[in-house]
Amino acid sequence: MKALEDRIREEGKILPGPVLKVSSFLNHQMDADFIMQLGAAIAEQYKGFRVTKILTIESSGIAIAVAAGAALHVPVLFAKKHLTSNVSGDLYQTVVHSYTHGTDYTVVVEREYLKADDKVLIVDDFLANGKAIEGLLDLIRQAGAEAAGAGIAIEKGFQEGGQKLRESGLPVYSLAIVDRMDENGIVFRGENSL
Ligand code: 5GP
Repeated sequence: MKALEDRIREEGKILPGPVLKVSSFLNHQMDADFIMQLGAAIAEQYKGFRVTKILTIESSGIAIAVAAGAALHVPVLFAKKHLTSNVSGDLYQTVVHSYTHGTDYTVVVEREYLKADDKVLIVDDFLANGKAIEGLLDLIRQAGAEAAGAGIAIEKGFQEGGQKLRESGLPVYSLAIVDRMDENGIVFRGENSL
């Protein structure tokens, strides 16, 4: 998506890791109009997939997942990182390794919100090594539900997640794929589709 690539070029900052910081419009301050467009563009790719639910992981995936959910007219469920008093009852849980923090954490969803007859589209802001998506796939598997695919805003194509997930047969679609980012700038893979 050219508008996203332009925005990344103009506002993205490359941090060690390497981590792409897009806090001016996606990860901290959020450009609501723009995020709705990103969500709609992801939804467009999966409109024939009979998606019944969107699943993401808190917190940075939530905004774009809501945008995609609004476009597909389906509920949006987010895996929670912390057990709080408003999460109760029977849970599915899995452990995810955080790329940005370098630590493992547990995420949970309540069983009543993920059912065996759900066809679930995973949506997230970034795809790097694929650990977040693998965790969400594990929750979908535990529920006996079906994964429709994974729609991502920004994929770092130089990390293994995208290739691994596509090779497993999951329909993965990313609005922007970064093939290289360094002091010479950011190189995108260009248009891609499912
Ligand atoms: P993965 O699990 O695919 O290795 O990493 C994806 C998760 O880590 C995303 O949910 C995202 O929050 C975070 N992440 C990975 N790489 C980046 C990055 O370059 N920039 C930002 N802002 N988040 C990232």
